[in-house]
Amino acid sequence: MISKNSLNPHCKHRWEKFFSGRDYRLDKCVLCGIIQTVSKKKTIREYSETDIEEAVKIYWTRGDEWRQFSRDFLRFLPKKKGRLLDVGCGSGWTVAEANRRGHRACGIDLSKGMVSFGKKRIDKNLTAVSLQDFNPSEKFDYVTMNHVFEHFPDLTECLQKIRKLLKPHGRILIAVPNINSLTFRIFQRRWYPLSPWEHIWQFTPETLAKVIKDEGFLIQKTVVNSMSYNPKNPFKKLGFIGLLGFANFIGFGDQVVILAKK
Ligand SMILES: [Zn+2]
Repeated sequence: MISKNSLNPHCKHRWEKFFSGRDYRLDKCVLCGIIQTVSKKKTIREYSETDIEEAVKIYWTRGDEWRQFSRDFLRFLPKKKGRLLDVGCGSGWTVAEANRRGHRACGIDLSKGMVSFGKKRIDKNLTAVSLQDFNPSEKFDYVTMNHVFEHFPDLTECLQKIRKLLKPHGRILIAVPNINSLTFRIFQRRWYPLSPWEHIWQFTPETLAKVIKDEGFLIQKTVVNSMSYNPKNPFKKLGFIGLLGFANFIGFGDQVVILAKK
């Protein structure tokens, strides 16, 4: 468990059990509503080089899906082009897509393996560095995090650093899984974005907005929709399209996207 309760300046967090898995639990704060993963295992999985090789193979062979995932995400940015930083860029699909759209984009990621793979094949503007150690000479118009924020042990520290990296009136665009979704209610332990060994936090539209507002950002847009999936089995695919379409229709899609201004 990594939560730094005492360091959160906005809530003293009082945890109650929300959900139990086999060897993990999700606890919900009765005061602010945020949900965290509690586990005796390490919450953040350490990736071996073999894991990374496997991951980059998947990233490469499923490039079309990643490109689509990045497009679906970036369309929530304002039309104006600018200098953009993608935090947790992986092998750089979002950076490549942002550059294709006319932004001046670069990305940072903790994984040296993903970055070196991506630099060769996807976009050269990637650096393997942590957010805290990243100190560029020029500030950004946009900082984006596509399904990355839920991996950060200290959310306040993360947002404060992003504030420093942004120009005045710069924007952040954040997408995370929505635990207040129809698919979580249906799939429960088998909910695909639960990832208890990787996702330290689970958000709803309200708790994500609160964390962002608490750091002084002004929320400009909140969208609840669903990620695109592409199962090979055509029946599964049809089922998914129907289910996610319905979930979106009733406002309980499986991801939250928030655009906010510094
Ligand atoms: Zn709390």
